[in-house]
Amino acid sequence: MKISELLGKTHRDNPAEVELISHKLMLRSAMIYQVGAGIYGYLPLAWKSLRKIEEIIRQEMNSAGSQELRLSILQPKELWDTTGRTDAFGDDLFTLIDRKGRKLVVAPTHEEELTAIVKAHVSSYRDLPKILYQIHTKFRDEPRPRGGLMRVREFDMKDAYSLDISNEELDLSYQKMVKAYKAIYKRCGLNVIQVEADSGAIGGKDSHEFVLLADSGEDTIVICEACGYYANVEKAVFDPVDYSEDNQSDLSEVSTPKVTSIAGLTDFLSIPTHKTIKTLCYMSGAELILVVIRGDLEVNEVKLKSVLGVSEIRLAAAKDIEKHGLSKGYISPVGINGFRIIADESLMLGSNFVAGGNKQEVHLINVNYPRDFKADVVSDLAQATEGQACVNCTGEKLAIKRGIEVGHVFKLGDSFSKSIGATFADESGQLKPIVMGCYGIGLGRLLAAAIEQHNDDNGIKFPVAIAPYQVHLIAIDAEKPEISKIAEQVQSDLHEVGLEVLYDDRNESVGVKFKDADLMGMPIRIVVSLRNLKDNVLEVKARDSDQIDKVPYGSFVDKVKSLLDERGFYDPHG
Ligand code: ATP
Ligand code: MG
Repeated sequence: MKISELLGKTHRDNPAEVELISHKLMLRSAMIYQVGAGIYGYLPLAWKSLRKIEEIIRQEMNSAGSQELRLSILQPKELWDTTGRTDAFGDDLFTLIDRKGRKLVVAPTHEEELTAIVKAHVSSYRDLPKILYQIHTKFRDEPRPRGGLMRVREFDMKDAYSLDISNEELDLSYQKMVKAYKAIYKRCGLNVIQVEADSGAIGGKDSHEFVLLADSGEDTIVICEACGYYANVEKAVFDPVDYSEDNQSDLSEVSTPKVTSIAGLTDFLSIPTHKTIKTLCYMSGAELILVVIRGDLEVNEVKLKSVLGVSEIRLAAAKDIEKHGLSKGYISPVGINGFRIIADESLMLGSNFVAGGNKQEVHLINVNYPRDFKADVVSDLAQATEGQACVNCTGEKLAIKRGIEVGHVFKLGDSFSKSIGATFADESGQLKPIVMGCYGIGLGRLLAAAIEQHNDDNGIKFPVAIAPYQVHLIAIDAEKPEISKIAEQVQSDLHEVGLEVLYDDRNESVGVKFKDADLMGMPIRIVVSLRNLKDNVLEVKARDSDQIDKVPYGSFVDKVKSLLDERGFYDPHG
């Protein structure tokens, strides 16, 4: 491909108000065009790269025994009502009304339609197991599209669905997909970790995310370097310090004028925060729920939602608290009736706590659980933070990092097959719901994440397998016939061995050409110049190295191939 003919011009300067490096570099190298908020057109360079990602995913899914199919984007809204996901997706769901007044969903994902198809085509245990997948566009009205291709409203995803007769068989399908995912990321040149993830309110068992660690990521990942425990903070567990004492003293009141916060309380009474109990009021629908946790810890709302089995909760507003006759700033679970009380396990790792007195300007001292109040549920509700002890090993300190989710695998279980009625007859003829898993990878986000991970001050450093072209060929003095003749020969020699070449044939300065090569980021750069021609050599350089080799004309193809091989290039011809 000649750069003189390529659609799109590179830009020297960083675009204003663009945060993510991948976003900046994709705009500067003319890979993407923003059509609207979270809506992009892909220019030829991005499309070539995305097609390669797609092909890698397809090959790995096929070799894991998965079958490709294609589902529709427009779907009747009733199908979504059946599984309750019209509400679960809420405002993220794009919907429209057709000319006959029927409501349609513009699919954000495809569990519903896939399960409906399976219902029609799978009837016996003999039809199972199966893994089905597609690579297709999804639409989600994300509240905060950001970062170029990182979080958009229209994007391509590989979504796969496994169908099994039992949880044990599901475990096997899940392992196959995990293995395929690892192969995909490796081939795409991405260094990712597999983290434990929350499995959401729709139920299901295990769930893992594949995450690329990057400061620009939106996800918070809890990491134990010692034992390799990786979990999304939404799900992460830790081992809270045990502060319990042997003696439980008598409960009594203490006057605490104008003290309405944990910080105020610890100051006023000169006690550490772990001697306090924090009581938070949450609203689940119209119900006010008291959530109780040791004062030094924070409530993790994702854990709370899954304990309550709901997809929405919110902190109660002052008017909700007033309406329920509670004394804001002095609320506690002691001596209170008519509210569900959900407690964090940390209440058992402390004694003689200070808690609210349920009346103005009064706190209670020496509160002990369960002596002084009962909770309806005691569960792990605490948010893991930096420096907490790991539960998985000998209590090493946990670290917190930011990450980008580039894939998600999820044991759905039978929630979809039950609501849609996708059953199979087992060996004894008994009808059972199909046990399902689902597996997603966003293609555009994967490309953006790869650029986030592989760049320097000068531009992109494409991993070889997903680079739009493997070779960036620069002809200096391209307008001179002896140069263009050689450059074209170099190009065709590379084509002959199946390599793709971006050929800078423009009448531009050497500086501009070198800067563009660095910005666009193809893995290998070759320079043809009059000076090199005299010595019968070409200059060959890898984008990720400073070394420039003068390679005799007769052996440059081998040199390029070996540089690509060293960088994990997967030869499509064997
Ligand atoms: P997120 O938490 O980032 O919103 P999700 O949990 O909604 O992701 P899934 O529904 O599991 O994502 O989708 C599978 C994959 O699709 C994600 O791992 C990600 O790679 C990609 N993806 C999801 N939402 C978007 C989006 N808005 N833009 C680009 N890619 C996305
Ligand atoms: Mg999402």
